[in-house]
Amino acid sequence: MKIGTPKETFDGERRVAMTPDSALALQKLGYECLIETGAGLGAGFSDEAYEGAGVEVIKTAAALWKEADIVAKVRQPNETELKRLTKDKTLISFFNPAANEAGMEAAKAKGANVIAMEMVPRISRAQKMDALSSMANIAGYRAVIEAGNNFGRFFTGQITAAGKVPPAKVLVVGAGVAGLAAIGTATSLGAITYAFDVRPEVAEQVESMGAEFVFLDFEEEQQDGAATGGYASVSSPEFREAQLAKFRELAPDMDIVITTALIPNREAPELWTEDMVKSMKPGSVIVDLAAEKGGNCKLTVADEKIVTDNGVTIIGYTDFPSRMAAQASTLYATNIRHMMTDLTPEKDGQIKHDMEDDVIRGATVTFDGEITFPPPPPKVQ
Ligand code: NAD
Repeated sequence: MKIGTPKETFDGERRVAMTPDSALALQKLGYECLIETGAGLGAGFSDEAYEGAGVEVIKTAAALWKEADIVAKVRQPNETELKRLTKDKTLISFFNPAANEAGMEAAKAKGANVIAMEMVPRISRAQKMDALSSMANIAGYRAVIEAGNNFGRFFTGQITAAGKVPPAKVLVVGAGVAGLAAIGTATSLGAITYAFDVRPEVAEQVESMGAEFVFLDFEEEQQDGAATGGYASVSSPEFREAQLAKFRELAPDMDIVITTALIPNREAPELWTEDMVKSMKPGSVIVDLAAEKGGNCKLTVADEKIVTDNGVTIIGYTDFPSRMAAQASTLYATNIRHMMTDLTPEKDGQIKHDMEDDVIRGATVTFDGEITFPPPPPKVQ
């Protein structure tokens, strides 16, 4: 069978779902690999590099979609791409199934099988295919780099001949995958780093990375943020008030605030209010990684960088992984390659779409002319 990767069509997207290295691995599974001309350029992979790895370069997207039995891409397909699906073609891509009924209906009508990368179950066996985590890791790292680029001071404290420089103080709100990556990056640059999450069980992880966990003066804290499957749930009004009071206390002292708080399938909770922004020092920076879901900071504008009247920079970019396209493509292509390995148990270049397999079943949102989303919970944790 042939597996092909088209150039991403989403405005400004620089990632690509196949790299020369991942293509070599896919060929070892027995597949022929195709790439649309120029698809890798935004991530630093030339057509020649793909050709050198035995990949056939195809001139147009239409021809690539026609020829490939399996299409691997990054962003959820647009209308034109959905029209290019045909019976028994397999698409592997982010698909946003919870908010993409039309996409699933279109794929179902065509009889195409869709594997949605955000649906890979978060069980140990599937970590190598967990593209949400690999992209969140990059977003957390890049958030700190972006903050540093907009912050006019050092992260680390220094004693120099020209004077003593205090270390920057960084607060990370939300210590999931992105938050932990941000904490690791900020501490390694020498900042004094604080972190908060509604899930108190992450305190130990936060502290082991050299940051200080911010505890609330809230008796029922241990019960709050109680979660299913490791995810946060909505906080009670009392807990939220205690959280906001703590943030109000911290805001004037923080140089950089990185917010990553999300609750699955909901708008991002608003945690950094206008008065907190107003109380921050000029030159401080907020990076809101929840901007795509409405933002954790009241003043965030998605896809923009703004500077408030009191000199606080608020960054609401929603394309952090694409800003590190080479790294993001390498990790994402590896996630896809591992998915293909599980789909090809005989290593014979033929997909075996085993709906009894927890991981494959969990990620499949249309199969054999049916919508198969949402999936049943995985049998093994
Ligand atoms: P996420 O992106 O859904 O949310 C980010 C963080 O925001 C979470 O830590 C959440 O607790 C926190 N949050 C929500 N509301 C908040 C609030 N009001 N204030 C402060 N923080 C708030 O999280 P994620 O990175 O996808 O991780 C979610 C869970 O999944 C974690 O338990 C993580 O360890 C787990 N996980 C497991 C695997 C695996 O087993 N393979 C892989 C990745 C993540």
